[in-house]
Amino acid sequence: MSDVRRRVPRTDIVLADPLLVEPIQRLGRARVKAAVLATQQHVRDGRLDPADAAPATLAALPVGACSLSEVLNASGVILHTNLGRAPLSTAAREAIAVAAGTTDVELDLASGKRGRRGRGALAALAAKVPDAGSVLVVNNGAAALVLVATALAAGREIVVARGELVEIGDGFRLPDLLISTGARLREVGTTNRVTLADYEAAVGPRTGFVLKVHPSNFLVTGFTASVPVSELARLPAPVVVDIGSGLLAPHSLLPAEPDAASALRNGAALVTASGDKLLGGPQAGLLLGTADVVTALRRHPLARALRVDKLTLAALEATLAGPQPPTAAAIAAEPSALRARAERIVLSLAEAGIAATAVDSDAVVGGGGAPGVVLPSAAVALPAAYAERLRQARPAVLGRVERDRCLLDLRALPPADDERLLAAVLAAGA
Ligand SMILES: *Cc1c(COP(=O)(O)O)cnc(C)c1O
Repeated sequence: MSDVRRRVPRTDIVLADPLLVEPIQRLGRARVKAAVLATQQHVRDGRLDPADAAPATLAALPVGACSLSEVLNASGVILHTNLGRAPLSTAAREAIAVAAGTTDVELDLASGKRGRRGRGALAALAAKVPDAGSVLVVNNGAAALVLVATALAAGREIVVARGELVEIGDGFRLPDLLISTGARLREVGTTNRVTLADYEAAVGPRTGFVLKVHPSNFLVTGFTASVPVSELARLPAPVVVDIGSGLLAPHSLLPAEPDAASALRNGAALVTASGDKLLGGPQAGLLLGTADVVTALRRHPLARALRVDKLTLAALEATLAGPQPPTAAAIAAEPSALRARAERIVLSLAEAGIAATAVDSDAVVGGGGAPGVVLPSAAVALPAAYAERLRQARPAVLGRVERDRCLLDLRALPPADDERLLAAVLAAGA
């Protein structure tokens, strides 16, 4: 026993090994030390030669100081909630890297005076939606709703259709969120139908605003009726439209998805949306509306608690003003191009002795919008056992298992990642 103990190299000696100098700088001493302690246990258990302590520690180190792992999205779900919704464009990632240091987020370099925080991102948003009198950005779509409910309806009523009281996901429900601000809900209509007369009967002196929520993650079909924004705008109360997904203008491939410009043109006083759904940007809550309403929101004390950080502002501006984000590219991808990519990957796998097939597949936009819309896609089909092996690889690959096959759907994966997907499958098949 004592002999084994003597053979275990001391922690400080392993940590001083030249092999670990660079990792300590990169990952921090605590993370490297944790790996050393694990290595020492392996020596104690007789599973590792003491001389190999430093190299074994090196091999066991995490890739970075953060525990998040990169995942290649081969699920066929473009906006995958569990994968953090929209992946950012290269331009947005670079913008984040600039903003991460000290930056002129609240400084006007020309005059040396204080500058308006987020002016670039706000200008980019306003430029994309000229129908908005003013714009504001907060932490996420839910924060945008909390801000408007607090500022316009605390102690008053929000008139909303019963069929639009949605659960966003993970147990969070919009009605609970709205009530938490001190506003009361005045529900109108039934689950499947609501008419202008229902709203007219409910709107009165206690009304803070009329809320229209896009059912972004479910469909009601059959005997249904809802009231368009253009008709709600005739009511004697401001109309707030939660479009959810963040389309700023109509999208030809997603005709049923509401957009900010149309809602404003049809008379909405305010539109709220998420930044990390169909817009393809960072998590953010976008508020676009008349100058009066947006100014009232900007001046509300709660606005300070909901403000976004400089990284978000940077990524949002680059998303709005820069090149097409991956989300838009994924939605627009031609099925024939996806099929050609799948066939190329299958060919490369065949050369390495791995049997796979290129198959047709159905992709979806995901929890971020366009419920019921199927986007024809293509996938690489492998035996089901690959799914788990690929999920545990680094980078991880998330496919989906369908009829006992592991499908790697290419619609949500940027073409530039095909080689890495191929490498992951080759490694998993080895
Ligand atoms: C997604 C969504 C929200 C919540 O937005 P977050 O950015 O996730 O906070 C609210 N309303 C609708 C209609 C949505 O689709």
